[in-house]
Amino acid sequence: MSHYDVIVIGGGPSGLMACVAAGERGASVLLIDKGDKLGRKLGISGGGRCNVTNAKDTDALIEHIPGNGRFLYSAFQHWNNRDIMTFFEGLGIPLKEEDNGRMFPVSDKASSVVNALVSKVKELGTDIKTNSPVERILYQDGQAAGVELKSGKTYKSHCVIIATGGQSVPQTGSTGDGYPWAVAAGHTITELYPTEVPIVSTEPWIASKELQGLSLRDVELSVWNPKGKRVIAHRGDMLFTHFGVSGPIALRCSQFIRQVQRKFDTVNVDMAIDLFPDLSLGQVESAFKERLEQEPKKAVKNAIKGWIPERMIPLLLSTADLDGDTVCSGISKTSVNAFASTLKKFLFRACGTRSLKEAFVTGGGVNLKEIQPKTMESKLMQGLFFCGEVLDIHGYTGGYNITAAFSTGYTAGKHAAEAASLFRN
Ligand SMILES: Cc1cc2nc3c(=O)[nH]c(=O)nc-3n(C[C@H](O)[C@H](O)[C@H](O)COP(=O)(O)OP(=O)(O)OC[C@H]3O[C@@H](n4cnc5c(N)ncnc54)[C@H](O)[C@@H]3O)c2cc1C
Repeated sequence: MSHYDVIVIGGGPSGLMACVAAGERGASVLLIDKGDKLGRKLGISGGGRCNVTNAKDTDALIEHIPGNGRFLYSAFQHWNNRDIMTFFEGLGIPLKEEDNGRMFPVSDKASSVVNALVSKVKELGTDIKTNSPVERILYQDGQAAGVELKSGKTYKSHCVIIATGGQSVPQTGSTGDGYPWAVAAGHTITELYPTEVPIVSTEPWIASKELQGLSLRDVELSVWNPKGKRVIAHRGDMLFTHFGVSGPIALRCSQFIRQVQRKFDTVNVDMAIDLFPDLSLGQVESAFKERLEQEPKKAVKNAIKGWIPERMIPLLLSTADLDGDTVCSGISKTSVNAFASTLKKFLFRACGTRSLKEAFVTGGGVNLKEIQPKTMESKLMQGLFFCGEVLDIHGYTGGYNITAAFSTGYTAGKHAAEAASLFRN
């Protein structure tokens, strides 16, 4: 067969869910992927356990999708995280909720989710072609007309869904192939950039690797603009690396580094770590004073062991201009205040992030002004639909991108099938 009601390009979460929604509506569907396996990126999400979705309510979901989350209101109204959970439970994949609403399969195996989804797609009669890179999409008189593979083979359809993902971690197949096809249809692509990516710093103590491998638990990391205004703050765990900082809260802050760099035409961006986010400056001062009083004869650098991450002590003391060998009883009020302030706001400079290839998620993509939010259909080319990370939508890791991919995929598949039925009648 070389004519289908709907052709889906890309077998990630968005494309697979588009196949389900179109197949459930009786459409004949062809799914094409250039890799030998479907759902590769989905399979490595959530630390390899597959972070299927997030259990938070719609407003919170959107809040955790800082890259144009509001565009998703319409899609979420019709098919959202609750539907994703019901869908997978219906496939015999029980789910469990972990911290911050993250949903995982009880099996902790990504393969159980990917296999169940692919089986459902097959059960609905979808034709699947793997190892089949698409070269271009065929357009005719303002209407999608089909696709041409790199091999030269063509397949016809009035409804084509681009679900090719972004450009990060290209070894999973997401190499940005969808963008030129969108441009050929008249679309614009907003600038692509890495999000959910480790942050780079050239601070001497990063270059010397003295903190490499040290993780901080339950601290607050913030990004500041050159006017001294806090742009964003995230609380949780982070890690010092040989090039800068990483870990959950660093990844979340990363996109704001680029934002400040662009807005203020600067390279260096101030960041700060609050080691005691639950305490006020006054309370940290009191806690420090109490330690000094308990151990009046000890050197301060020893008195604070067990209270402050040990490997950070020399750096924190020198930042506060406090000699670690000073005995506790000899520390002035000014030094107490300076050290407490350093613990509450340890400032350092970031100078960028790691590359798009290393990012978990691609920022930017197909301009949302050119997409119908209710259907995911192009406003510029009839029968052309988009879903998933190829769109200019990006969220924090934690199931938010996958929720966006499933939801936009379902919406695109449903409406592509409905549009295709008009051609059948
Ligand atoms: C390590 C890692 C961990 C992550 N963890 C999380 C997480 O915990 N929570 C979260 O929300 N998100 C997470 N993400 C992000 C999430 O996985 C992606 O946002 C999501 O997979 C995007 O889905 P998609 O369907 O749009 O595209 P993709 O999953 O990228 O799939 C695109 C598909 O298109 C195919 N394709 C591309 N070009 C062509 C072509 N020319 N012809 C045919 N086929 C083509 C590719 O082979 C691929 O199969 C993580 C990402 C990574 C890399």
